Amino acid sequence: MFSTGQNLLVERERQRAALLTWETQFLYWVAAGCRSADTPLLAESEFGLWMHHKGAAVFQGAEERVQIEREVKEIDAVLLPMLRLGRKRSTDSQETVHAVKSHASQLRFLLSSLFERLASLDAGRDVLTQLLNRRFLDVILSRENRLARSSGGHSFAVMMLDIDHFKRINDQYGHQAGDLVLQHTAMLLLNSVRGGDYVFRYGGEEFTVVLVEVDLARAQVIAEKVRERIAGEAARLPDGHEIRLAVSIGLAGFEGHPDPMRTLERADKALYRAKEGGRNRVELG
Ligand code: GH3
Ligand code: MG
Ligand code: MG
Repeated sequence: MFSTGQNLLVERERQRAALLTWETQFLYWVAAGCRSADTPLLAESEFGLWMHHKGAAVFQGAEERVQIEREVKEIDAVLLPMLRLGRKRSTDSQETVHAVKSHASQLRFLLSSLFERLASLDAGRDVLTQLLNRRFLDVILSRENRLARSSGGHSFAVMMLDIDHFKRINDQYGHQAGDLVLQHTAMLLLNSVRGGDYVFRYGGEEFTVVLVEVDLARAQVIAEKVRERIAGEAARLPDGHEIRLAVSIGLAGFEGHPDPMRTLERADKALYRAKEGGRNRVELG
């Protein structure tokens, strides 16, 4: 939706300004005695509308967006009504005005982090998982392929992972729980490989890892460790419910082929065999 960094900056400034405009309206309303007829509801302000519609679409899956909705609700449904009811007692009112101001400043902070998230998407990251975006996979594979071909000993491997029966998780616990499982898997994946390896979100519930400077034996150990870890650490939902999951993995080591996509294709075929063979396993390509 925001294709260029320019748009991103403009939009961020506009929403900051919209939030400030609302705060000013709020203070006027307080000064005028908090009359219920013209209560400045944040949800109905330009900022509130933007957040609820465009923001929700653009920042889908971002934790800050949920927090922002919560803050807006707190202001509109709790604090503003308190001011309307309690306008005779000015000390209580002052505290409530302070509370609104501190919620507004929290909102400003959340807004900034949301846009930072979007900036990182521009820099090639997937918004939901913060993993690398698939569109950079070609570049990385070409680079590793070139490095491996030009230096005798150096090699790399590619892992393709796909969460087993992920559709069931969505069906049984809902899409939001599914998103959480994706984030959980991404985190385990990142923590199971080295800082120099590349972890991509390939698509929906599929991930690609480029393991640098490994031979096949070492790559197999890593792949097995990843599989075990994901099978062993359940994802926990906000209500405390735990979801156990498993992944199938296709693994392929570089074999000297000049086509950078070849290793990925072999890993993908191996993944298919891992699924066919019963899932929750690693197959070699
Ligand atoms: P298999 O073991 O054969 O891999 O089965 P599966 O159910 O994991 O695979 P399938 O390809 O049938 O289903 C993948 C599902 O992932 C379908 C799609 O709705 C869901 N999905 C894709 N992207 C997202 C996402 O970003 N969030 C959520 N919650 N679900 C997603
Ligand atoms: Mg799949
Ligand atoms: Mg799957």
